[in-house]
Amino acid sequence: MAENQQLAALVDACHWIGAKGWCPATGGNMSVRAGAGQCLVSESGKDKGALRERDFLPVDITTNRVLDPRTPSAETGLHTLIYRCLPAVGAILHTHSVNATVLSRVEPGASLLLSGYEMQKSLGGVASHLDQVTVPIFDNDQDIPALATRVAARHEIAPLRHGFLVRGHGLYCWGRDVLEARRHLEGLEFLFQCELQRRLLEAR
Ligand SMILES: [Zn+2]
Repeated sequence: MAENQQLAALVDACHWIGAKGWCPATGGNMSVRAGAGQCLVSESGKDKGALRERDFLPVDITTNRVLDPRTPSAETGLHTLIYRCLPAVGAILHTHSVNATVLSRVEPGASLLLSGYEMQKSLGGVASHLDQVTVPIFDNDQDIPALATRVAARHEIAPLRHGFLVRGHGLYCWGRDVLEARRHLEGLEFLFQCELQRRLLEAR
């Protein structure tokens, strides 16, 4: 799909995410990979459910330089890091859903481990409910370069796959293109809701 079609698909995805309530109060940020080593990142402070194509700003993936007078999302450094670490990634969706926020706080470990769910197969390369899906969890940090350094260090040890959680904050997920990123987001959100409900029932 051509770059402008990917941006149009991303705007559609943002409206869908807004309707789902996964980016309340202007939270979250989205991007697509563009040509010439750049990505297009959503502008800071915009309602994600009402984004238009002109609300995405070009950023150099290697240098983090913003090629626009406007200000992109404060978390742009995580988007560029993911594009650098995973050359096949074409689109990134970062959401602040209730389930991602709560589950990442309830799980005390450095990863959320999922198995036994048919819907795991919504994630690229996962063929069975018997596989174990690992979703890394990073402690939240207002210092985005510091958080990006921790994500990069983890990727060196265990390569990132479909996404990661930031504790008490939300989910980053991605795909080869916007369509795959949307499928991963919807699949992970479904799995998070199942896992939260399972833990609640088992705690009774
Ligand atoms: Zn965020």
